[in-house]
Amino acid sequence: LTLLGLESSCDDTAAAVVRGAPGAAQVLASVVEGQTGLHKEFGGVVPEIAARAHAERLDVCVKEALARAGLGFDALDGIAVTAGPGLIGGVVSGVMCAKGLAAGTGLPLIGVNHLAGHALTPRLTDGAAFPYLMLLVSGGHCQFLIARGPEEFTRLGGTIDDAPGEAFDKTARLLGLAQPGGPSVEAEAEQGAARRFAFPRPLLDRPGCDMSFSGLKTALLRTRDGVIADKGGLTRQDRADMCAGFQAAVVDVLAEKTRRALAAYLAESPAQPMLAVAGGVAANQPIRAALQAVCAEAGAGFTAPPLALCTDNAAMIAYAGLERMALGKVDDMTLAARPRWPLDKSAAPMLGSGK
Ligand code: ATP
Ligand code: FE
Repeated sequence: LTLLGLESSCDDTAAAVVRGAPGAAQVLASVVEGQTGLHKEFGGVVPEIAARAHAERLDVCVKEALARAGLGFDALDGIAVTAGPGLIGGVVSGVMCAKGLAAGTGLPLIGVNHLAGHALTPRLTDGAAFPYLMLLVSGGHCQFLIARGPEEFTRLGGTIDDAPGEAFDKTARLLGLAQPGGPSVEAEAEQGAARRFAFPRPLLDRPGCDMSFSGLKTALLRTRDGVIADKGGLTRQDRADMCAGFQAAVVDVLAEKTRRALAAYLAESPAQPMLAVAGGVAANQPIRAALQAVCAEAGAGFTAPPLALCTDNAAMIAYAGLERMALGKVDDMTLAARPRWPLDKSAAPMLGSGK
C-alpha cells in the first residue's frame, strides 16, 4: 500500500508518502513546515494563526511530498489525515484538505488519531512487534501506553498537569534562555551541578505511573527569585546549576515511573519486550540514557525513533493510516475533526487512574 498523510493538529504543517505493509514500511517523502516564526511574538501557539497557515500551506506540502516521492495521485492507495486530537482549527484544515483530495481523486479517506501516529512510529522505524510499551513525552503529552494493535492501546498513566517539554520551555523562559527550552536547558545543565539546589520529585511517593511536572516550574521560580534576592542577579553558573537540578528531577521521575510501567508490562510476559520512546523530549541525552539503563536492568529492549519522526510529522500519520487500511478500515465524507480523542477509554484499573 502507498499512502499520502496529512498533519496539521498543532504548529507543524506536514505531508508525507509512505509505502509498504504493516511492520515493514518505508518513508518515501516527508515534508514538515514549522510555524515557530509565526507565533514567536505571542509566546505560544495562536490557534487562529495556526489554522490559517495550515489552510494556506497544506496543498503546497502535499505537492512537495508527491514531487519528492516522484509519484502522482494515481500511484496512491489512500489519503490519511490527522482527525484529532489537537487545535480544532488546524485539524479541520487538514480534514477538509484530505476530503477535497479524496473527492477529487476517488481515493479512500482514512482518519488517524495523532497519538496513534506517535505510538505506531516504532513499527515504521523498527518494525516493532506488538505488544510494546510506549512512552510519549513531548511539549503537549506525557503518557505510558501499551500498544497491542494498530487501534488497541492501554494507557498505564501519564502526567496529571504539564508535559515535561512544557516544563523545559518554562524553565528556559524563567532563566532567559532561548526557545525551544529543551535543548538550551540541556546544554546549560552540562555545565551545572545538579546538587546545589533541591528540586522536588513529584508523585514518586505514590503508587502507579502518573506524573506531575507543574510543581517543578514553581520550585524553579522560587529558587531563581531566592538567588536574585540574595545576590541581586543570576550568574551563568547559577543558571547552569538550576538547569542541572531541574533536569535531574525530570530524569529521576521519568526513570522511576518507567521502571513501574515496565514492571506492569513485563508482568504480561510479552514475547519481545521493548520500550519505545517518542516526542521531542526524547531528544534529551540524559533522559535517553536513564531510560536505556532502566530497560537494560529490566531485560527489555529500548528504541527511540530518529528525531524527525519523534516530533510531529506526517509520515507517522500516513503509516498509521496504512495500518488501518490493512485492517480494511476506511472513512467517508462524514469523517469528523475531533479536538479531544483519547487513545483508550479506560486507564488500567490495576494501576489506579491517579485522578
Ligand atoms: P505535541 O506533539 O505533543 O503536540 P509539541 O509539538 O510541543 O507537542 P514535540 O514537537 O514533540 O512536541 O516536542 C517539542 C518539545 O520537546 C518542546 O517542549 C521542547 O522543549 C522539547 N525538547 C526538544 N529537545 C529537547 C531536549 N534536548 N531536552 C528536553 N526537551 C526537549
Ligand atoms: Fe505530536
